[in-house]
Amino acid sequence: MESPRFVVVGGGPAAAGAARRFAEAGHPVAVLTAEPVPPYDRTVLSKDVLLDPAAPVPALWPTGAPWLDLVFCRPRTLVEALDPGAGVLTTDDGTTWAFDRVVLATGAEPRRLLVPGADGPGVLHLRDTRDAAAVSAALVPGSRVVVVGGGVIGLEVAAAARARGALVEVVEAGPRVLGRAVPSAVAAWLARAHAERGVVIRPGTAPQEVLRDDAGRVRGVHLSDDTVLPADAVVVGIGVSPRDGLARAAGIEVDDGILVDAAMRTSHPSVLAAGDVVRRRGPGPHGVRLESYTAAGRQGAVAAGVALGSDEVFDDVPWTWSDQGDLTMQTTGTPPPGAEEVLVGGPDTPVVLSLLDGRLVGVCGAGVGPSVARPVRAAGSAVAAGATVDVGAARALGGDLAGLARLLRDAGRG
Ligand code: NAD
Repeated sequence: MESPRFVVVGGGPAAAGAARRFAEAGHPVAVLTAEPVPPYDRTVLSKDVLLDPAAPVPALWPTGAPWLDLVFCRPRTLVEALDPGAGVLTTDDGTTWAFDRVVLATGAEPRRLLVPGADGPGVLHLRDTRDAAAVSAALVPGSRVVVVGGGVIGLEVAAAARARGALVEVVEAGPRVLGRAVPSAVAAWLARAHAERGVVIRPGTAPQEVLRDDAGRVRGVHLSDDTVLPADAVVVGIGVSPRDGLARAAGIEVDDGILVDAAMRTSHPSVLAAGDVVRRRGPGPHGVRLESYTAAGRQGAVAAGVALGSDEVFDDVPWTWSDQGDLTMQTTGTPPPGAEEVLVGGPDTPVVLSLLDGRLVGVCGAGVGPSVARPVRAAGSAVAAGATVDVGAARALGGDLAGLARLLRDAGRG
């Protein structure tokens, strides 16, 4: 019997995880990616590469692994059309690819700043290696950098810009930085720490226009509160949009992301999807797009496993990290709006336990250096189990993060 034909569309961690799973199971797989190179570790782009443009960007597949012989990766290839019924997709050079199962891992792209003057040189986004090289080149000593968006990208860029000797202002439309997924106590501590390191943060205002000189070079940003910030470069980190157009045009159900079930199945039986492009189908409102690097890789592997006939599901507790200069922020779980937030940890190591009906649904912490990783990582099983936590005992530990890690690990053991 002929091997089924498997195709993966995309070139990020979800695509890498899916292809690896197919190949490790002994199946040839084609990976069609628009990027110029095979999948690489995107997380270093907003950290190491901004500090040193020559920093290595590691590949996601281990060089020389025997299963790589089964992976046919075609970079610089854009998939333009998908016909799930016929099991055929078409790439931008007109080639058609027949498949029995396809995994869509097309990811997300940075939202653009839609104000006058924003479309042109000197207004930069950060998603791929080319973007990172351009942002890194703009972070020169004494240059005035306006960062638009106080999310993870914005604060990582701001920290790198300060480290490179640039002058940085962060313009955040919301009332505070990190409003999407970080409890306010942790976000407030981080905002203070960035301010102490020379980053000016302007919450509650947004760019109205990017001002340019006669030669078209960026010279400033006019804000909605009428302030004009002088600028040599603008870096935009205002969130991402899922690249779900290919799936939508193919008649697959999307809702700000390709809708999938826990097994990463879409509304068409021969199409699976994984990574930043997916949103979990819900009985009521659909779930969040996770936007988590580690989750993307695992979802890709689950999608391929399911395509191969296994009955697994993706139920990992998501975990993300953000290194912002010498500051670390880590978070696990996806607390729903309205979860109770209990602040524990020490004055310089805030940790927030998120509880729903007394059960742990998330942990988020920040600090100087990586020590806050201990309690956050240790909380994974407790969050997965929705365990109860002795909040009084957690508070009493103060800045003893090793003790807090023990307490959270024990809570997960039941
Ligand atoms: P984000 O959603 O984390 O933050 C975007 C911020 O921009 C929000 O605070 C929002 O209020 C603000 N904003 C939106 N429109 C604005 C406007 N017009 N003017 C000013 N502010 C505005 O998104 P991001 O920081 O752009 O990150 C993009 C993606 O990259 C996410 O998927 C993220 O998870 C991923 N990423 C993750 C990490 C990490 O976990 N370490 C690091 C970098 C990037």
